[in-house]
Amino acid sequence: METYESLLAAVSVEDGEPITNPATDEVVGRAPQATADDLTRAVAAAEKAQPGWAALGHERRSQLLNEAADAVDRSAEALAELIAREQGKPLNGPGARFEAGGVAAWLRAAAATPLEPEQVLDDETGRATLSYRPIGVVGAIGPWNWPALIASWQFAPALRMGNTVVLKPSEYTPLSVLALGAIVNQVLPEGVLQVLSGGRDLGAAMTNQPGFGKLMFTGSTATGRAIVAESAEQLPRLTLELGGNDPGIVLPDVDPEAIAEDLFWGAFINTGQTCAALKRLYVHEDVYDAVVAALTAVAEKMAMGPGTDEQNVLGPLTTPQQFKIVDRLVEQAKASGARIVLGGEPDRDAPGNFYPATLVADIDPDQPLVIEEQFGPALPIIRYRDLDEVIGLANALDAGLGASVWSSDPGAAREIATRIQSGTVWINSHGGVHPMVPFGGVKGSGYGLEFGVEGLKAVAVPQVING
Ligand code: NAD
Repeated sequence: METYESLLAAVSVEDGEPITNPATDEVVGRAPQATADDLTRAVAAAEKAQPGWAALGHERRSQLLNEAADAVDRSAEALAELIAREQGKPLNGPGARFEAGGVAAWLRAAAATPLEPEQVLDDETGRATLSYRPIGVVGAIGPWNWPALIASWQFAPALRMGNTVVLKPSEYTPLSVLALGAIVNQVLPEGVLQVLSGGRDLGAAMTNQPGFGKLMFTGSTATGRAIVAESAEQLPRLTLELGGNDPGIVLPDVDPEAIAEDLFWGAFINTGQTCAALKRLYVHEDVYDAVVAALTAVAEKMAMGPGTDEQNVLGPLTTPQQFKIVDRLVEQAKASGARIVLGGEPDRDAPGNFYPATLVADIDPDQPLVIEEQFGPALPIIRYRDLDEVIGLANALDAGLGASVWSSDPGAAREIATRIQSGTVWINSHGGVHPMVPFGGVKGSGYGLEFGVEGLKAVAVPQVING
């Protein structure tokens, strides 16, 4: 089994870009910076490796993905420690160990999902079969919040379908993804998966690079829009998993204490830095005070601190920029007269990017903390009276990744769910993803699906054989 030190030594280079621990501001390691020429070389190597990889067939590729998952399991603790030091999420809770375990789970799910050709016509008028072929080389560009897990969401299905992959992690969390690449490349043939670390320029170069049949992007809506514009020349297929501003709607029939812990983790998983976290909570006036009190009681108990300390379940914000965004939004809410129930007073001079878990009550629905994506540990809780009005508020923003409805009558909640404009609506939970359940956004949250059979189809080209 690999140690944290040996894993880091395998990917960190002396003259690379320093990557700091967001809990301590100390340098974790140094990431290589790939150039445009490195990218061109990587794409050429991926093109060379692709026919052989596709020729292995589904069964052999699936076997290798399972072996890659075993390799991840063997190095899971070392990988989790690197994630905790680089990205900041704690080892425990739904944190870095959970992330490393998720990588193995998604590799195994990509291997296990069946995708058979479909007989779409077979009668006296003719016969047609729809099959899914490899695209060729897939480019993947990732964010910093769940760096290793989201990388696996991109490369595992793409590899399963016979594509080769060139992947660029976020400039803030390259080491975890380089390390994951090194682990799975213990079993994959050369050139099948390459990880190139670099900045925004390298991402922009990928959108213009000939050779990519598809780009998978997870990140902000602004960058997603830039990728659509910049990729017009090469016309790769696109999957865009963009920002979210997920509403949660709490109906008057809930038991506040029974739902409080799930509400908390829906909003505060990874210290709020999760695409499909609950980012604005609408609570019916009948249960408003009781829900705020129950949520506060849960939130108060959650330990925040460096990710490597076993007792912590909340960590720092990964970047100082993200700290500033959360700080600004909470200060604006305060100035508007909203009530800070918990948190809201960060120590701005302390090391690290720690912002305390913050609950903001009696806030106007049009406050920036409500309508902008905070991507951090500050939850606005809005009081509502009328169901139609709250559904209108939920649908008013240009985001549509997830949403949730909370009720002791799941049937009624499902009815309400059909009126919400988002890719997923959870009932009595928020944000849970499963490798067999398709996931993707609508509106400003992007397009395309990941996971399950739909996720495999998205990294393949459909071909009809007619006759
Ligand atoms: P970001 O858009 O700033 O960066 C994402 C990646 O894009 C990085 O690797 C970056 O180097 C690269 N990039 C930057 N400019 C580029 C360009 N012009 N062309 C190509 N690539 C470029 O996003 P972030 O701050 O790393 O991530 C946070 C955002 O991601 C949040 O909005 C969050 O909601 C979203 N997110 C969405 C999902 C999802 O599944 N929908 C998952 C995680 C995060």
